[in-house]
Amino acid sequence: MQTHQIANFKANEIIRKCVHCGFCLATCPTYQLLGSELDSPRGRIYLIKSSLERNDFSTKSIEHLDRCLTCRSCETTCPSGVEYSSLLDIGRGFVEKKRPVWQKVVRYSVRKLLTTPVLFNPIGFIAKHSQRQGEAVTPSGDGKKVLLLGGCVQPVLAPNINHSIKNILAKLGFEAIETPQKQCCGAVDQHLSAEHDALKKVKRNIDSWLTQQVDTIISSASGCGLMVKDYPSLFDKSDPYYQKAKYISRKTQDIAEFLVDKDLSQLNLEKANISYHEPCTLQHGQKLAGLVNSILQQLGYTPAPVKDSHLCCGSAGTYSIFQPKLSQALKNNKLKHLQVANPEMIVTANIGCLMHLQKDSKIPVKHWVELLDN
Ligand code: SF4
Ligand code: SF4
Repeated sequence: MQTHQIANFKANEIIRKCVHCGFCLATCPTYQLLGSELDSPRGRIYLIKSSLERNDFSTKSIEHLDRCLTCRSCETTCPSGVEYSSLLDIGRGFVEKKRPVWQKVVRYSVRKLLTTPVLFNPIGFIAKHSQRQGEAVTPSGDGKKVLLLGGCVQPVLAPNINHSIKNILAKLGFEAIETPQKQCCGAVDQHLSAEHDALKKVKRNIDSWLTQQVDTIISSASGCGLMVKDYPSLFDKSDPYYQKAKYISRKTQDIAEFLVDKDLSQLNLEKANISYHEPCTLQHGQKLAGLVNSILQQLGYTPAPVKDSHLCCGSAGTYSIFQPKLSQALKNNKLKHLQVANPEMIVTANIGCLMHLQKDSKIPVKHWVELLDN
């Protein structure tokens, strides 16, 4: 691609890597649904390139970029290592300035609603997925401390997830200190192109978590975990927060990474015939494809193979709010594929996917760790 006129150096570098092979089209959910090149990764790369060159994003270009789920399935497929999501962030930053005022108002309202506990909690209370079940377990032994990310919506919608994790960790001899709800990881702001607000949250979190002096930070929501692991990419290397962000990122693990080498034989498991939905943020974002499945299999579960397991369920942060038709189509396909083997339950690893699938699922949808705290 001719990229010499593009002012943004980072975008230029990313675009230059694309060799137009089109392999990514086959694994892009929006291309599969809509069959249009402009709703494929390659098409969007071209759109961002030409829009940056002209310094003008048309209404049509905004539509095609908005339809992208940021699922990063294309990054997993791309043989050239194109960092598509970083390019998309750059493109969306430009798009935001050209967006019609009414769209800016709606996006601002949704963002504030989701990230302000006093606004979100009453809605979350009504939409609640599960209550805490069972008593809290006291850590055995010295109770080595780990920091558990509370998340902003998860504690209200599904408090049993982190309750289960605390119990599991206590049985393994760890004490989990949960961060308060107001400490959102910043993902909602970042993905709605409110970088300034995202950075304020990120810096506040880094400063707060550094005072905890723990060896490990655990995330039970793969979307939040990915955001925290990506913190360094939000800072210039000369920024004093860059090294701190790297330190925090290195210490952060998804709960599956933390549990994979632990002896789980003492846990009481819930017996169930399950299927497992692997969130995009875990498989494509954190590059941990297959990890949860292998832990579940080691514990004696037999999750059935799921057709098109690499494709997004349509949740994708706020996507289901802004792109309801596409989101619903992806959910319908996902639920159909997840239920082929007639499971009693679907398990997953991210609160967004869990709530999205549960809305239309006749069988329960849970976080997989809840199976381990019976
Ligand atoms: S991030 Fe997902 S939806 Fe967006 S272009 Fe890549 S594969 Fe398609
Ligand atoms: S797979 Fe990679 S190199 Fe090929 S068209 Fe897609 S983004 Fe470009």
